Amino acid sequence: MATLTHDVIRSLAGLKAQETPVVSLYLDVDGRRFVRPKDYEVHLDHLLKEAASYTNGHKPATFDLDRIESHVKAGFDRSRTRGLAIFSCASLDLWRVFELPVPVRNQLIVNATPHVRQLETVVDEYERFGVLLADKQRARMFVFELGELVDKSELFDQLPRHEDDHGDWDKDHVRDHSNAAAHRHLKRAGDVAFHVLQDQGFDHLIVGAPEEIANELDRVMHPYLRERIAARLAVPVSASDATIRAAALQVEEQVERQKKAAMVARLRDASAQPGGLGVIGLDPVLKALVERRVDTLLVSDGYETEGWRCRSCNYVAVKGRTCPLCSSEMDLVPDVVEEAVEEAIAQSCRVCICMGNADLDVMGRIGALLRF
Ligand SMILES: [Zn+2]
Repeated sequence: MATLTHDVIRSLAGLKAQETPVVSLYLDVDGRRFVRPKDYEVHLDHLLKEAASYTNGHKPATFDLDRIESHVKAGFDRSRTRGLAIFSCASLDLWRVFELPVPVRNQLIVNATPHVRQLETVVDEYERFGVLLADKQRARMFVFELGELVDKSELFDQLPRHEDDHGDWDKDHVRDHSNAAAHRHLKRAGDVAFHVLQDQGFDHLIVGAPEEIANELDRVMHPYLRERIAARLAVPVSASDATIRAAALQVEEQVERQKKAAMVARLRDASAQPGGLGVIGLDPVLKALVERRVDTLLVSDGYETEGWRCRSCNYVAVKGRTCPLCSSEMDLVPDVVEEAVEEAIAQSCRVCICMGNADLDVMGRIGALLRF
């Protein structure tokens, strides 16, 4: 199965079918809700039947629908897979299957381009992050991707034992000795984390350490690690993997929410000033995209609306049908917001999909921070 990265999504978003359209399927196969394969296959059948009866616009090739159906019904390992994303287009020689460890919303779209918005949401919501837990003699380093544990390292440094008590001088001596050992241990913990960063890579780091060693741990860390610290976690180093995962995901969600709230606040300020580097509302955002001025596109999750797209020059617009740029006849598309997301991804803009952000909803559910 294909690995999901921003680059993979970008190459998908850049594809355009000329003859038969692209079929994109998202299917929720979460074993916690769909115990037997039959339980989600019912939904698949319904989506396929609907797609086959499309009359307006694009008619999907039977080949693509059949290929998707047999792939899903052949079964797959559901111990790690909660969502499926499949893209098929015989005329483009396109066949990509993503088995995702997170659930998706059921959706089957037939369009000239692959429907990538849900994939982008998944990558955006679940960045690759590291978790470093340490105390005075243990350290554990984890890497999570798409919410799943993908790498784990352990380090144990025995603290020196001093069972005899030889008076005050020795007590000081023992304390110095222990401090030095603890220092060496933290230094080694930092080295492990740095090695994992170089080897595995991650976007940010969550650190959990008792207060008395937290500062020292920060000091001995490589600056590349320090600049990635996104949050602190109050979980002991001995906690179970499941507890650590749950706590880390919660922190991760909060970090994402704060980052998005800050972005929306920036958009509000930028769009409030005349000549500021921000636009809000669908029409101005589509214009900015066509002019290639967008740095970051912000969209409320679930925002969909009809619009137009020019097949020859990629112009996207609220109103059709003649392309204002090249005068070709544009296609009516069921969801121009998705077209905007695809266009932004193809242009290497950052795309930020916001869940339950009332501020963005008030601004028209879509906005863009501009480069110029
Ligand atoms: Zn055009």
